[in-house]
Amino acid sequence: MKRNIEIGKHAGFCGGVNLCIKTLDEELEKSSEKIYCLGELVHNKDVVNSFKNKGVIFVDNIKTVPNNSKLVIRAHGAEKHTYELAEKRRMRVLDLTCPKVAKIKEDVREYINEESYIILVAKKDHPEAKSTISFLGDNASIIENEDELKEIVNKLNKYKYVAVIAQTTFDEKVFLEYAEYIKGNVCKDVNVMVKNTICNATSIRQNETREMAKSKDVMIIVGGKNSSNTHKLYNISKEECENTYWVETKDELNLNVLEGKLDVGIMAGASTPKNVIDDVVQAIEEYEG
Ligand code: SF4
Repeated sequence: MKRNIEIGKHAGFCGGVNLCIKTLDEELEKSSEKIYCLGELVHNKDVVNSFKNKGVIFVDNIKTVPNNSKLVIRAHGAEKHTYELAEKRRMRVLDLTCPKVAKIKEDVREYINEESYIILVAKKDHPEAKSTISFLGDNASIIENEDELKEIVNKLNKYKYVAVIAQTTFDEKVFLEYAEYIKGNVCKDVNVMVKNTICNATSIRQNETREMAKSKDVMIIVGGKNSSNTHKLYNISKEECENTYWVETKDELNLNVLEGKLDVGIMAGASTPKNVIDDVVQAIEEYEG
């Protein structure tokens, strides 16, 4: 059966991930000195393994990195105390925080004071959210679901200003709903500023996924199982197309789900390399069921 396969125009690496990989590659070419990287560089095993093979040492805790070492901060950024500890221990930091992530804290700098409160709509355990919130002072919190939203709104009326921002990879539709809820439920003396900090690479990819999923018999979402933005793509696609499947590589693809299905859409998260997407496409093209 010859299938119609559409690959998302915005599937795969975003500008921030490309920049991160390119800069680290250049750094490795410049010197043979040991380089430590805090956390996975991107949520993709192949990319991480290729850097491991080039000599990068991945660690989960900065405390295991020797003093004076070269330390890479990945695109998600790192928490404030990590930078402080790195400085104290004279590490040379190669900060590959995506410029769009780094800019969020600048966007709300004027709200870090006693009269203001900052709400970050985000996944609490996401490294980017942990990094951003760590720079926002005491009057700030992460809101992840409707219960937390309703609870925080009751506490906002004592502030003069409220800023609402989002993790770059958060679901834009949900963020905008939360922001509207806050605006509509605080008293009129509170000035609410909503800054949509969702990366447009993310929202463009999410919108494309939604549109594509509407007309497909099957959607395959390709990306790491620990990738937040891939998870969002999966959820969005599933809302529009019941037959949505999430695979990390072609090996996880159960080709039987394609049986009798003509139109197949493929979308991939921001940290999925092109060759992984190509492998999935090839497996589908070659399947004759
Ligand atoms: S998704 Fe956007 S914010 Fe995140 S790394 Fe990529 S370009 Fe940067």
